[in-house]
Amino acid sequence: MPRLPLLLLLLLWDVGSLGFPAGTSETQERDVEMVQKYLENYYNLKNDGKKIVKQKNQSLVVEKLKEMQKFFGLKVTGMPDADTLNVMQQARCGVPDVAEYVLMEGNPRWDRTHLTYRIENYTPDLPRAEVDDAIEKAFKLWSDVSPLTFTKVFEGQADIMISFVRGDHRDNSPFDGPGGTLAHAFQPGPYIGGDAHFDEDERWTNDFKDFNLYRVAAHEFGHSLGLAHSTDIGALMYPNYQYSDDVQLSQDDIDGIQALYGPSSNPVPPTGPQTPQPCDSKLTFDAITTIRGELMFFKDRFYMRVIPRYPQVEQNFISLFWPNLPTGLQAAYEVTERDEVRFFKGDKYWAAQGQDMLYGYPRDIHRSFGFPRAVRSIDAAVSDEQTGKTYFFVANQYWRYDEYKQSMDPGYPKMIAADFPGIGNKVDAVFQKDGFFYFFHGTRQYKFDPTTKRILSLDKANSWFNCRNY
Ligand code: ZN
Ligand code: CA
Ligand code: ZN
Repeated sequence: MPRLPLLLLLLLWDVGSLGFPAGTSETQERDVEMVQKYLENYYNLKNDGKKIVKQKNQSLVVEKLKEMQKFFGLKVTGMPDADTLNVMQQARCGVPDVAEYVLMEGNPRWDRTHLTYRIENYTPDLPRAEVDDAIEKAFKLWSDVSPLTFTKVFEGQADIMISFVRGDHRDNSPFDGPGGTLAHAFQPGPYIGGDAHFDEDERWTNDFKDFNLYRVAAHEFGHSLGLAHSTDIGALMYPNYQYSDDVQLSQDDIDGIQALYGPSSNPVPPTGPQTPQPCDSKLTFDAITTIRGELMFFKDRFYMRVIPRYPQVEQNFISLFWPNLPTGLQAAYEVTERDEVRFFKGDKYWAAQGQDMLYGYPRDIHRSFGFPRAVRSIDAAVSDEQTGKTYFFVANQYWRYDEYKQSMDPGYPKMIAADFPGIGNKVDAVFQKDGFFYFFHGTRQYKFDPTTKRILSLDKANSWFNCRNY
């Protein structure tokens, strides 16, 4: 049995006693090993093997844990808490996150813009043509936004040599079997410089199943070109694997590659999506809903989730939870009685129970709810737990739908201003909590009492995110 730093073990026990998902001592030991391996692999924790220099080693582990937590925007505790372990369990790139380890002296960049690549061998997981296609598309992402060009060669030495290998493949960075590390790539330079290795113990795909080769290749080629990992969760250069339907460079990736190689020659400067920052006071929302006692905020490709016992908001791609949902949702509401959440975009809507999408969607809002054809989309929706009435907000009007009778109540639409005085003429998002409605418009939020029809308080839209604790 490997010897483990004592303090780390104690810390884990401590966490275990705080209602961490019931773990046996065996799983906790596995966690300790995982933490150590993770910090060694990605945060340059030195493993001195035999001797455990108690004080020294432990404070080093705490320091490295803090560094890791800072990188991933977790609460910086220096302890392997549940959030931290969760992130460590995610599949990711094998290149370390710490800069001093990644960068050599000087700029790791190619001194020319015309580069060659060669696919040395093929994974049996996909047809050859699919591999060729994924690799070509991955390079195109980078050449589209920079002066770089990539030419495929079929023999001899190329700048970027691409191979599928498993286990120890003699570059001092062995792969680890299925999961964990998916691939790694070397920064620009001669010989192994620029090369990209993909773990053949993974199952490579061309769709949403684990792991999408195009998505991983796009990330690895960023390293081949000289980029380090980004802390921007929306960036392709974020270290952890995350798949969304449209693999694209974020503005952060584009800024990175252009800092190394200059702007693209394209007369229209290419841009990419910015990642919404939960604590940005200018943040606005597409849609918000309760879901099983938690709050889910939606913005562009992302959700932000407020989990009661967690100190801060969790942000990730919507597709991580619901791969079938489109981005840029416009409204969402929960019918707690049926444990169902409905999501709206344009004249279509989808339904889910927890993470499970329900079959038979998307459906049409006109046919299902009886909206007139003139209604092209829903701005916001909320279902009143007590009455089973769902309110749909469309421009300056609202409709009321009865979830029991499954029909629109007569006499609608009505004017928002008449029945919800003070919240303005347009709603971006709304949810219900403890009997109150919370309306959102722009950067503002209104707490509304539906019984007295009065606004109780006014707040910033992102007030739920506990931003002072960041
Ligand atoms: Zn990477
Ligand atoms: Ca692996
Ligand atoms: Zn390798």
